[in-house]
Amino acid sequence: MNHLSSYLNSIYADNHLPSSLERRQELVREMQVLEGKTIHCFTCPGTCCTQAANSMLITPIEALEILAGLKIEKFNNEELQSLKDRLNETIKNYRLNVEIYTGKKNASGFRKTYTCPFFNNGALGCSLSRSSKPYGCLGFNPQISDDNGMSCSSNTSLLENREHIFSAAEETVNNQIRKDLNFHWMKQNIPQALLDVLEKIKN
Ligand code: SF4
Ligand code: SF4
Repeated sequence: MNHLSSYLNSIYADNHLPSSLERRQELVREMQVLEGKTIHCFTCPGTCCTQAANSMLITPIEALEILAGLKIEKFNNEELQSLKDRLNETIKNYRLNVEIYTGKKNASGFRKTYTCPFFNNGALGCSLSRSSKPYGCLGFNPQISDDNGMSCSSNTSLLENREHIFSAAEETVNNQIRKDLNFHWMKQNIPQALLDVLEKIKN
């Protein structure tokens, strides 16, 4: 398998897929508009990023873009191992690799909550760049100042608009990644998705 950046570049070029930032631009802009009105996450304990409410699932292209955003190609062996250890620890702590029997059909859609491995306590919050953050994370924001997560919600119209513009190209790309990397999932929790990519791709 190729290095991450050459693989991603070939995926973008082959499918005419706009860059990671371009596909998130409107969501990032909305966050900046909110911040201009002092509506931000800086005083929140991170309700939507912790086990309290986070069950984020991501697609294969989002997983590749998170790793590219972290610049893992510049990681030495120790740094790479430390990242893998953190991801594995999250999976173990929140039993993300254990299926729960719910008694319902199609229980594979069941989502477990977990504290995101990229969440820093306090005002630091998410450690990922906005240009590579999961779409769902970017679209979920507070509506008023300093309410510590009480009134946060997804901006469904911006998220749906993003989907409308990019979903066809992203679906093709996700199917190609699933085939190339032999993934059997459409969406996966963040730590497992990243570990699956790291297992298949050179850093
Ligand atoms: S990626 Fe960032 S915003 Fe999303 S759950 Fe993790 S820490 Fe929170
Ligand atoms: S989006 Fe809401 S719940 Fe999530 S960190 Fe920001 S203020 Fe807190």
